[in-house]
Amino acid sequence: MVFRVLSLYKEFIDSFAATGVIGRAVDSGAIGIDSIDIRSYSLDKHMRVDDYPYGGGAGMVLSAQPVVDSVRAVRGEREIPAVFFSPRGKTLNSALAKHYSKFPELILLCGHFEGIDERALEILEVEEVSIGDYILTGGHLAACCFIDSVSRYVDGVLGNSESSENESFENGLIEHSQYTRPREFEGLAVPEALLSGSHSLIADWRMENSLEATRKYRPDLYKKHLDSLRNTWRQQK
Ligand code: SAH
Repeated sequence: MVFRVLSLYKEFIDSFAATGVIGRAVDSGAIGIDSIDIRSYSLDKHMRVDDYPYGGGAGMVLSAQPVVDSVRAVRGEREIPAVFFSPRGKTLNSALAKHYSKFPELILLCGHFEGIDERALEILEVEEVSIGDYILTGGHLAACCFIDSVSRYVDGVLGNSESSENESFENGLIEHSQYTRPREFEGLAVPEALLSGSHSLIADWRMENSLEATRKYRPDLYKKHLDSLRNTWRQQK
């Protein structure tokens, strides 16, 4: 799967693409991250990409021309979906990440300043994705979160030991707590069941801990879990 990221901070994307699990996935060829500088498509003689907002107000707006031209240059004749990062978009979650992991190629368009001229978004028929109800200084940060969460579902990105199956949210629950050596740290012991060597005791402990964590940290998910259990039970009656 290839991500083609259009932003004003190519070096930021390149450094992300060379780091950690994502860096290894790029090296192995499981994913590709192609970073493109929107500025290099500016037709302005000073390579400007922003201008004042019509109607006045604070900040600058990323102009339509370099955005439309850069996305068109990347798309060519192909029909590649373009995701635009925006606070008003659909909120990213594990289901949406899984959905995007099915595409062989995606264009990721990052906004900067106060955002992009609306006409560019309309012409390019972008799909809008938000990474949460807060404002970032630029879409390049959202693009990295998006690539990271989507890539986890792409074959060959995670090793077996890092499989995405047991992670939080995968089954509607928060993951169980984790412990590593030493057995005791500042008077706190590792739960007995995890030291028992018994697969079934460990599995039971993890399931209970996961339910407890969901109830405590995410009562909304816990309620959904109970509702779905209730529905299954009703259907079986
Ligand atoms: N004026 C805009 C915010 C602009 S922030 C508003 O009030 O809605 C600049 C850029 O950062 C945006 O164009 C977008 O690409 C990115 N961005 C900011 N917050 C984001 C979020 N929560 N999710 C995804 N992208 C975001």
